[in-house]
Amino acid sequence: MEEKLRELLEIAENPQRAITGWKEVTGGKVIGCLPIYVPEEIIHAAGALPVGLWGGTTEIERANAHLQGFSCSIVRGVLEYALKGTYDMVDGFVFPSTCDHVQNSSDIWAKTFPDKVKFDLVYPANRSSNAATLYLADLYREFISWLEELVGSSINNGDLQRSISVYNHHRELMEKLRQLRAEQPQSLTHREMAGLVKASLFMPKEQYNQELEGLLPWLEVRDIKEVPHKRLLLTGIMAEPEELLDVIEDLGCAVVADDLALGSRLHGVQVTTQTEPIDALVQRHLSLGPCSTLFDPGKKRGSHIKELVEKTKANGVVFINMKFCEAEEFDYPILKQELEQAGIPLLFIEVEQQMASFGQIRTRLQAFTEMLA
Ligand code: SF4
Repeated sequence: MEEKLRELLEIAENPQRAITGWKEVTGGKVIGCLPIYVPEEIIHAAGALPVGLWGGTTEIERANAHLQGFSCSIVRGVLEYALKGTYDMVDGFVFPSTCDHVQNSSDIWAKTFPDKVKFDLVYPANRSSNAATLYLADLYREFISWLEELVGSSINNGDLQRSISVYNHHRELMEKLRQLRAEQPQSLTHREMAGLVKASLFMPKEQYNQELEGLLPWLEVRDIKEVPHKRLLLTGIMAEPEELLDVIEDLGCAVVADDLALGSRLHGVQVTTQTEPIDALVQRHLSLGPCSTLFDPGKKRGSHIKELVEKTKANGVVFINMKFCEAEEFDYPILKQELEQAGIPLLFIEVEQQMASFGQIRTRLQAFTEMLA
């Protein structure tokens, strides 16, 4: 099992080999999905492989010539990888309207890579209006037509239903993994947990599900470190660079819950099997959240985090702000006020994927965790 775990972590570290391997074996198309909410079930139903493009630690050498200096590091990383040819095996790209950064980078892509096929998934800004349901169903039908043309075959309701089942099972398993992390934080390191989430971005979900199903019972009895006595909840877009997780590990703290976009936000809300598949996928998107990138006039993130803190007995919350991420920055003051009122300690730290120095973050995290009850 240790070997199986290493293999998944290797895929998370070096996804190209797994993706090109899949392509060689199946002859299928690879679809690159920018963060956050792309309905992967539709891509899966087309027989294609959806892969998540969430940037990385690559040195930014060329992307800065195409993007404004205030673009977030995920968008810069994705463009840099594309310019370096890392995504040459990707046949089509999907740009959801997550934020101005992703949306605007779609236009830059069109100019920079006129030969790369892409689809703009422009979600309804106001998810509570009746028009949002109709609009989104039309958008998903357009997306299906785009994929059908790309893969050269049609997608029917049976295909969609099968893919929905695979993804529902996937979300169930990810929830089990998160519960295990909360209940037995000594069973895996923070890097291993992050690697398991990341590997899922690059593998066919049925294969990933099978691997994780095999790993879960083994992880339940695995015991690789002392039970950490301070318990943290991480919130933000992602807990990267992973050195940040090493710092938390070194300080003897457990991460018992997360509200990360590259984490629990990805796996929230199942797709109902009681209705037409497109309508079901629309309903899922309209009920996602809370998330800083989604329309949420009630600002439910605070109450969601308070519930998670209570459920997982977390001692404090770390807000990991991706530099220049306006969506998250707008949420922070509201969250801060709500958590302060609830007496929940909160630490704000700012990261960039390509940052190399962690001394200041270590000092701040150390001071924060020392004062936790
Ligand atoms: S980190 Fe923020 S700004 Fe960057 S892609 Fe994600 S939501 Fe957009």
